[in-house]
Amino acid sequence: MTIYLNGQFMPIEDAKISVLDRGFIFGDGVYEVIPVYTRKAFRLAEHLRRLRHSLDGIRLVNPHGDSEWAGIINELIARNPGEDQYLYLHITRGVAKRDHAFPNPPVAPTIFMMSSPLSAPPAELLQSGVCAVTAQDNRWLRCDIKAIALLPNVLLRQMAVDAGCAETILIRAESKSEGAFMTEGAASNIFVVKDDKLLAPPKDNLMLPGITYDVILEIAAAHGIQYEVRRIAAAEIFAADELLLTSSTKEVLAITQLDGKPVGTGKPGAMFARLHQLYQDFKRDVMRAS
Ligand code: PMP
Repeated sequence: MTIYLNGQFMPIEDAKISVLDRGFIFGDGVYEVIPVYTRKAFRLAEHLRRLRHSLDGIRLVNPHGDSEWAGIINELIARNPGEDQYLYLHITRGVAKRDHAFPNPPVAPTIFMMSSPLSAPPAELLQSGVCAVTAQDNRWLRCDIKAIALLPNVLLRQMAVDAGCAETILIRAESKSEGAFMTEGAASNIFVVKDDKLLAPPKDNLMLPGITYDVILEIAAAHGIQYEVRRIAAAEIFAADELLLTSSTKEVLAITQLDGKPVGTGKPGAMFARLHQLYQDFKRDVMRAS
């Protein structure tokens, strides 16, 4: 596997970074995960826009313009095997003497990128759906930043794995002004289906603005699927007809069991089937056009 590190392509075994890297010491950095189909990065402009948002959020200067990023990304794709890949792009605030405050003057950021094989979710998962558990969302208040500091997400996701499930759906505890509500999954966005309508939580500071989330809403708008973007009360996920999970690597999956109880009929529903097919069509059309 060939990776990219600070301006150079090299075998992953040769890649080395300092133990003083602020990513290692503080988790001081941001990342992106970009799917690649038929050797073309999918929704690259949108991923690079979200990267800019994350970098702005942690006050780190974007080390490259979009065309420079595209050049590096395309070379990494070309140097790795497989028509379908997913790229992991990671930027930290660089190597400096350990001190919480930013290095002054700033140091060069550490820029790392790697490619892994991407395979679509297996047919059994599409047919059966996956199970999920719920947990309190105990993360910080800037979940819109794709930060590499993922300890809460790691612990929350492990709760699902311990229960033999695929995902943990996160519930923000009640605030003074409102009751408990659903934000997203530990590593995915979550949609609710009720009475043939798709419900999506708003893209605010409490969730990662998913690239797949946007594609799903674009598809819904283009195909006359009714949808509403609004806060989703915790109770609504337990009363849902269907629950859907989206992410760049998992695409769209049906959640058919929640906390050990069936969601709706307990089988992937009509909205899942429709959106899954439309997502495949969308992907194919975008890749053909690019
Ligand atoms: N929320 C979180 C917390 C995530 O980690 C991810 C990505 N794995 C998503 C949502 C989905 O985002 P995307 O569709 O851009 O992959």
